[in-house]
Amino acid sequence: MMKKALICGVSGQDGAYLAKLLLNEGYSVCGTSRDAQMSSFKNLVRLGIRDQVKLESAALTDFRSVLQVLMKNKPDEVYNLAGQSSVGLSFEQPVETLESISIGSLNLLEAIRFTGEPIKFYNAGSSECFGDIGTEAADETTPFRPRSPYAVAKSAAFWQVANYREAYGLFACSGILFNHESPLRPQRFVTQKIVSAVSRIAQGSQEKLYLGNVDIKRDWGWAPEYVEAMYKILQQEEPDDYVIATGESYTLAEFVVAAFDCVGLNWQDYVITDRSLFRPTDLAVSRGNPAKAREKLGWQAQYKMPDIVRMMVEDRQEKSNPV
Ligand code: NDP
Repeated sequence: MMKKALICGVSGQDGAYLAKLLLNEGYSVCGTSRDAQMSSFKNLVRLGIRDQVKLESAALTDFRSVLQVLMKNKPDEVYNLAGQSSVGLSFEQPVETLESISIGSLNLLEAIRFTGEPIKFYNAGSSECFGDIGTEAADETTPFRPRSPYAVAKSAAFWQVANYREAYGLFACSGILFNHESPLRPQRFVTQKIVSAVSRIAQGSQEKLYLGNVDIKRDWGWAPEYVEAMYKILQQEEPDDYVIATGESYTLAEFVVAAFDCVGLNWQDYVITDRSLFRPTDLAVSRGNPAKAREKLGWQAQYKMPDIVRMMVEDRQEKSNPV
């Protein structure tokens, strides 16, 4: 029997890569968007899988909508990748962020419990939950000290997942993923903002690149690899939570230098620090310890920050110089 997967938030970066992976694994894939009639699903189009994914509208903050999509599609596995995903925007839209992430996850857990079916559930957790970790890499035992509305919402969702696993025996798991990038990353995220500006400058644009705090350190991975970890998490005998990271962190300044290096330009000629882009609270350092994922899932990141920057810049160059 063909397995069925439901991906909530299929229009996003991870949703598109995960849909592709699951189709390759022989799954029938259904994906949700808040408004499937209005969404262009450009990421699915880009990956050439738009017509292979069944698309549904679902608002995760609406229990009826969630239950309906579950009852109609009867998935074996549900991946919740939907919700307001920007840390920066969460300071401007804290309620929307909390509701879409935390109530959204809770409605999915409740609906799965309500159906009584043995549906496996993956929830998109975040490294932002750890807060400022200092020099130690965070693992599954590191306490959460969230420092943004986004991180607070993701922390609540994490504990909801753990509670439904323990209280009701649901096969519910969180992947605590560190930042992961790709050409599908929206412009709002600083990595894509940098790569896009560098590509335009390399094409002759006279613009400057305005950035906030470039001293922050992040553990950047490659999104297509990170969705493999999501899939593996649901293929285990027992439900559990996993940190997914490369284990290496770099400053944003190093990311910027790498991007300008790719096109042979000196970053100092173009980058301007803009204090209005600093966040009210931010994480100085973020780095994960993926030992458990390596040991239990057999998962390990192949690509590190310099590879990721190069692949993102190359993708932009190809798009601006089509053969
Ligand atoms: P995206 O922002 O690319 O996609 C998330 C999807 O959620 C969107 O396509 C959108 O679908 C839906 N969405 C956006 N805003 C809202 C909202 N306010 N309310 C309800 N739904 C919304 O995220 P990614 O693919 O990058 O990430 C997937 C998940 O993993 C997210 O939960 C994110 O927070 C989490 N995560 C991501 C990391 C990363 O580095 N990428 C790191 C750690 C966690 P539509 O508009 O079609 O409804």
